[in-house]
Amino acid sequence: MNIDERQIAEIVKSVLNNVKTTEDAPSYKGVFDSMTDALEAVNKAYKLYRSYSIEQREQIISKIRQLTLSEAEEMAKLGVAETGMGRVTDKIIKHQLVANKTPGTEDLKPSVVTGDDGLTLIEMAPYGVIGSITPSTNPSETVICNSIGMLAGGNAVVFNPHPNACKTANYAVDLINRAILEAGGPENLVVSVSKPTMDTSNEMMKSPIVRMLVATGGPGVVKTLLSSGKKAIGAGAGNPPVIVDETADIKKAARDIVAGASFDNNLPCIAEKECFAVDSIASDLIASMQEAGAYLIKGEQIDKLVKIALIEKDGKYSINKKWVGKDAGKFLKELGINSDARLIICETEALHPFVQVEMMMPILAVVRVSDIDEAIDKAVAAEHGNRHSAHIHSKNIDNLTNFARAVETTIFVKNAPSYAGIGAGGEGYTTFTIAGPTGEGLTAAHSFTRQRRCVMVDGLHIV
Ligand code: NAD
Repeated sequence: MNIDERQIAEIVKSVLNNVKTTEDAPSYKGVFDSMTDALEAVNKAYKLYRSYSIEQREQIISKIRQLTLSEAEEMAKLGVAETGMGRVTDKIIKHQLVANKTPGTEDLKPSVVTGDDGLTLIEMAPYGVIGSITPSTNPSETVICNSIGMLAGGNAVVFNPHPNACKTANYAVDLINRAILEAGGPENLVVSVSKPTMDTSNEMMKSPIVRMLVATGGPGVVKTLLSSGKKAIGAGAGNPPVIVDETADIKKAARDIVAGASFDNNLPCIAEKECFAVDSIASDLIASMQEAGAYLIKGEQIDKLVKIALIEKDGKYSINKKWVGKDAGKFLKELGINSDARLIICETEALHPFVQVEMMMPILAVVRVSDIDEAIDKAVAAEHGNRHSAHIHSKNIDNLTNFARAVETTIFVKNAPSYAGIGAGGEGYTTFTIAGPTGEGLTAAHSFTRQRRCVMVDGLHIV
């Protein structure tokens, strides 16, 4: 039989196409090809986990923290390589933050009422198996943060990660399973699917095995979740404004804003996404931002950048996904500028799309306003009622209070970079699931529990 070279090439190609490469299907623990199998496995594991003590939960969590710290760099590199978004050095910091500052079982605080009629105990019980949908912007960070909180609450978890970041998310699922096994826990207590889709997401949401749903992402997923008919926690989109008034320490404000707005190329939902500066200090602030490492563009350069970063249709702008989370230097290169600045700044009007659209790119528009009242009005409008995050640099207590009252956000940071709001350089614990729409705020173990009351009449009341 004679086979020519072209036929051989075709055969080789067809064989290769049918071979599952390790890249397609890495042997990650807890990661299943089908959602049905993932659900069955996690349900079995949850039943075993019910008998685990709080101390055993803590041993598992402690191992997760340890592995997260030792593999932070690997996950940071994988996240940037897979999604093409963000900065490795910043993603390492995000993993360290998750490992060190996500609360464990200490977050579960039972309460008690005693009186003439006896003693009543209120304890925080697990929901059961929780279904969690995670974003592309913090893929492994969210998986680890959710897992620590959910396992601390006594639950098991099934993830449906963002399809564009599922290798990174599933690496984290594998890490968690390795940690659980090392700590003597059951296999498949945290599971995921190798190829998440809308179908796997729907199956997860509808499954009677899943008792609670948690979604971290944009408005679409939060809306879907809230119409599921199940208890749901929705952590949605933001567009955080930052105000700088005439009483602020301008140099510090500039440094803080450049640090916050450029962190992981502005991917975090809490990051400063537009700035309102009172006219009397605006020029000073812009010059100080340049000193702090920002690159100022003007005029036609701004118009050109709009065409790169955004897509316009019928006068409405949306993000050009290709450019989300890219380095500032890449945008500048398109403008013919060679610079390794971390952030691009430009002066615009308040209605400019750089102000109004949640871009998640290291581009910060600065809007001049006449006074604090105009700053607050325009900042509240730019936040679009998300009530997610807002920031201010000021030493005037009335200005700080008035903005906080007007904007009503879950996170409000004063005189610091935005990331102080999730425990990086600020007091308080860390989370990557900030539930504004459903009101849990910064989620932690307690958010993933249900209260149960146990009443003893006429007994165990000792005074
Ligand atoms: P995204 O909304 O595109 O995706 C988030 C997740 O939801 C993914 O897993 C995606 O597959 C899924 N999804 C999207 N639409 C869905 C639908 N209709 N039904 C079911 N699943 C759906 O978000 P992204 O681009 O990955 O992340 C960025 C967005 O997430 C930003 O808007 C950001 O503000 C927000 N975010 C919020 C928080 C928070 O804590 N509030 C944290 C991180 C990101």
